Amino acid sequence: MLPLRPTKSVLEIADRLERAGFEAWCVGGAIRDALLGGQPLDWDLATQATPEQVRELFGRRRTIPVGIQFGTVCVLGEDEVPHEVTTFRRDVKTDGRHAEVEFGASLHDDLARRDFTINAIAYRPKTGDLADPFHGQQDIAAKLVRAVGVAEDRMREDRLRALRAIRFAARYEFQIHPQTLAAIRSSAPHLTRLSAERVQQELVKTMAQVKCPGAAIRLWRDTGALRVLIPALASLDDVALATLDRLPQDRPGGRRAPRRTNNRVAALFLDGSDDDARQAMTALRFSKSEINWSAALVARWREVGDSLSHSLRRGEPDDAQVRRWLARVGRLHAGGFLRLAAARWSAMRDAGQPAPPAAEVRALHRRFVIGRFDAIEVADLAIGGDDLRRAGVPAGPIYAKILHALLELVLETPARNTPESLLAELPRTVASLEATVGTSTSH
Ligand code: ATP
Ligand code: MG
Repeated sequence: MLPLRPTKSVLEIADRLERAGFEAWCVGGAIRDALLGGQPLDWDLATQATPEQVRELFGRRRTIPVGIQFGTVCVLGEDEVPHEVTTFRRDVKTDGRHAEVEFGASLHDDLARRDFTINAIAYRPKTGDLADPFHGQQDIAAKLVRAVGVAEDRMREDRLRALRAIRFAARYEFQIHPQTLAAIRSSAPHLTRLSAERVQQELVKTMAQVKCPGAAIRLWRDTGALRVLIPALASLDDVALATLDRLPQDRPGGRRAPRRTNNRVAALFLDGSDDDARQAMTALRFSKSEINWSAALVARWREVGDSLSHSLRRGEPDDAQVRRWLARVGRLHAGGFLRLAAARWSAMRDAGQPAPPAAEVRALHRRFVIGRFDAIEVADLAIGGDDLRRAGVPAGPIYAKILHALLELVLETPARNTPESLLAELPRTVASLEATVGTSTSH
């Protein structure tokens, strides 16, 4: 008995199509994942009915025409979950990035235009039939990603398939069939034709779906894809790849989901600068907030990574030192930064490079968590700009300098963070800042 159990709402949609005289088959990723023993989230359907017939059958209220020109209509299930229902189609024209399709095709035509044999299996709930003309089940059993048909031709039709093959292989720990792998290699120089958005989406899916994405990015590198897509990472080393595998992956639908993916993206750039990360992510059309997050982690790694590592290897740092690091990393990025640093150090240790021992890193993590409640940012100080004005300091850029100098005192001795203590310190702080300004302008 096959472990194929479409949800109730998928069965209802299929049944309604069949009763109107149209074959309805579940296709693609859901069948693959169910055969692999997983619990698929998205069940897509393929049918003889045209998009107009699908809309007519389910009514306007239950349908959304998401991609009519490709034959796709979203049908809301009884549980309000949208399911893609796509008319059987065949490609009439391809150019490596888009396809023009025509309807009136058979199920076989429809499966033949799919990328890999493991993605070209269909299941018909009405009869319980399984259509597997390209022997996807054999490849699932053999743990193989293999193009449907002639691999070189299929990659030429759509270059994204090269990256998809790598992602599926890493996700399921499959091998890539030799001819498919050869076609991926010959695709690499042509990946420039892909839109930045599609490449970004593949990178994000790889980071989000694959438990150990190091193997996938290694293949991006070794097939030449990385050099073409993210030139700054052309010679990414094995420590960087191993770092990816030590960072947690996003939970699907997790509340803070994209953050983990962006931590992994940041891990790619630790040997470069935050500017490299910014440029590469901008070219791939990541959002501003994603770019800022990853670039900030890279910048902090460049700034404090080495001194942190040296110090932890020498022994336990004192509390003031921990607070100073926390102040430089900032409360917002402390968690992400330490997770990234811990992963990187673990990868370095395993590669025989000097890095702090795991126990020291865990201890630092605990102290960072506790230290977050200390005053570590200017905004945490017991006085602010208004107090400086009231104390008669003329407003100007010196305010920021004064507050930073006071923060240094508080990082050293948290008990000094009271208005009285800080105001008492004010004259000395102002005098010493003016003295420094004086010396620097006199030169
Ligand atoms: P995921 O779990 O990543 O969603 P999936 O197999 O469902 O995996 P989708 O991108 O959702 O992947 O595509 C659904 C199906 O459409 C695939 O299983 C495959 O049959 C087909 N498909 C998707 N992209 C392509 C492509 N670029 N070329 C050929 N067929 C494709
Ligand atoms: Mg899918």
